[in-house]
Amino acid sequence: MKPMKDRIYLSSPHIGNLEQQYVQEAFATNWIAPLGPHVEAFEKSLEGYLGANSKIAALSSGTAALHLALILLGVSKGDEVLCQSMTFSASANPIVYQGATPIFIDSEAETWNLCPEVLESTIKDRIAQGEKPKAIIAVDLYGMPFQADEIRFIASKYQIPLIEDSAEALGSSYKGQKCGTLGDLSILSFNGNKIITTSGGGALVARNSEFKEKAIFLATQARDQAPHYEHSHIGYNYRLSNVCAAIGRGQMEVLEERVAQRRSNHQFYKKLLAGAEGITVFSEPSGNFFSNHWLTCILFDPKHSKATPEALRLALDKDCIESRPLWKPMHLQPVFKQYPYYGASVAENCFKNGLCLPSGSNLSDREKERIALIIKQMLG
Ligand SMILES: *Cc1c(COP(=O)(O)O)cnc(C)c1O
Repeated sequence: MKPMKDRIYLSSPHIGNLEQQYVQEAFATNWIAPLGPHVEAFEKSLEGYLGANSKIAALSSGTAALHLALILLGVSKGDEVLCQSMTFSASANPIVYQGATPIFIDSEAETWNLCPEVLESTIKDRIAQGEKPKAIIAVDLYGMPFQADEIRFIASKYQIPLIEDSAEALGSSYKGQKCGTLGDLSILSFNGNKIITTSGGGALVARNSEFKEKAIFLATQARDQAPHYEHSHIGYNYRLSNVCAAIGRGQMEVLEERVAQRRSNHQFYKKLLAGAEGITVFSEPSGNFFSNHWLTCILFDPKHSKATPEALRLALDKDCIESRPLWKPMHLQPVFKQYPYYGASVAENCFKNGLCLPSGSNLSDREKERIALIIKQMLG
């Protein structure tokens, strides 16, 4: 038997120099709790990075942040929420937690995010049917900002609050404005596979302290002011722990470095695939978009490419290299099939013809050589 090669992952955690020191501080001071000095320091650090108008509530996950965003906007049973179909299921699940109805919307081909034309025609149609949607969820998929001017124009024209799912896009920006600040409310994720990680965690980004305080109140079991435990609201256990926040503080100090490393992976694939027939590397459509290139994705033109996405995936896998199909749209998921879908087949075609390539910020040159070898064999 041949010795197993080290597996190359799609996107693995990449720890800097300070995380352990901060975590040790949490132990030394016995703040092993879902509160403590690191949580506030981590929030301050994110607020400093995202800028003056950002008020952060650090939470246990990006999914929890989306759930609280919907609650803060008053989304409840019977309401409709418009949601990008091409995304990870966590963008849509919290709509169902609230007993509301997700209405899925197709992407446009440039950023793979919410299509402005379909968004507007959907809003008109739902209003005509007697139901004005309660919120819009737009995603910055794979780190690529959505068409923020167009989407925000429509959201404000119809006065529907916009939630930005920026779970994959910390470090990206649109016309110089940072992702994580593009919505009325935005969310971030620090799951293990994201651009920076707290092992597990997320954040709600609000535009004012009132929403931040409300989110923290709900995330800590909605305890009213009283010496005993008094409750007048349903609460959640969604706060980030002090230990996880300690990791986050260390990660914030290497964020810019991580963005540069992921962007350099993207450059590596662009160069590698420059001559490959029928292959497009998913890239920024114009200078207005700055992507952290969380994952580098490629799209196959089935008429001209030398292999299929699945053949490449299997060839990479055989050499212990992980790659993955693009997000399968929500309107094609069994669990969401009963909900309305608006649009054509942009998202579906991406799913059929795309592949995410290994994109960790810790990919070594040696690993890139292994990847290049297989890709050249299959597509070159
Ligand atoms: C990861 C992710 C989430 C969920 O974040 P968690 O922290 O894992 O709960 C939501 N939306 C998108 C697009 C994601 O990639």
